[in-house]
Amino acid sequence: MNKLFLCFFALMLTACSGDRQKDFRRWMENDGKVKVLSTTGMVNDLVKEIGGGHIDTLTLIHGELDPHSYQLVKGDDEKLKFADIIFYSGLGLEHGPSLQYHLLQGRKAVSLGDYIEKNDLQAVIYVNGQKDPHIWMDISLWAKSIPLIVNVLSDAVPEHTAEFRANGNQLMEVMTKTHRQAKEIMNKVPETKRYLVTSHDAFNYFTRAYLSEPGEVESGEWKKRFAAPEGLSPESQLSVTDIRSIIDYLKKHHITQIFPESNVSRDSIRKIVQAGKDQGLNVKIACCALYGDAMGKSGSDGDSYLKMIIYDANTLANHMGN
Ligand SMILES: [Zn+2]
Repeated sequence: MNKLFLCFFALMLTACSGDRQKDFRRWMENDGKVKVLSTTGMVNDLVKEIGGGHIDTLTLIHGELDPHSYQLVKGDDEKLKFADIIFYSGLGLEHGPSLQYHLLQGRKAVSLGDYIEKNDLQAVIYVNGQKDPHIWMDISLWAKSIPLIVNVLSDAVPEHTAEFRANGNQLMEVMTKTHRQAKEIMNKVPETKRYLVTSHDAFNYFTRAYLSEPGEVESGEWKKRFAAPEGLSPESQLSVTDIRSIIDYLKKHHITQIFPESNVSRDSIRKIVQAGKDQGLNVKIACCALYGDAMGKSGSDGDSYLKMIIYDANTLANHMGN
């Protein structure tokens, strides 16, 4: 990295944190609005759409940070205490102890993922006996949290219930349409090439919803279409067995590209690519990172929840099997 690039990077970081500070200060103003804090951008996008101008929203964990292991930093305590309502993704995603403590203790914290699971026992995917928290990666499932958000906001601001319901219905329509669109994009890829390897287990729901063939959801066969070296949380360490099993998977399905994820270190997939090359395997890191645990930066192709899923689908459709 040259000095000019480092200066530019430092300036960008300062600008971003300056904007966030401004958002935070504005959110902390007592303007009579209900203050809603969401843990991730994918949660916040739904809440914002439904609440419209009648609530004041803020996101706790910003894009580039890992939501699995996020621990509270200076100022977070203040946000969690000031919030009237906290929405979080749930199903064990936010398991950094200091944040988890607040979410489990606080009576004002509401989990979207756990609500979806309660109403649809088939929705949640288990990986080695553990709940997979990346449920937002299937738009049709994430949309099932809309009634919960509508109800919680309506309890907080009853005079705007009708508007929250209308916004919820409209959002449901948009999400249903975008879900179909993602499926159509992926269907353009021949089924023999719809096999995916990414950094960590963030794409099980995506695979089940958008890469599977008819009948595979019922039979469980969709599972053969996705593998990742790092497991459900990207902090996991790679063992020799992990590397070997991914290499076997790449060989078996003739996969030549591993997709990085926007906010996950590429160390693991670099190790796999190297180990593959040592064995004469033609494999490389794909050109473009996918959005899994986080949306893209403001102004990017994935800077909203629905854009991130469509970006992933388009990126895969353009590069899978090439
Ligand atoms: Zn993840």
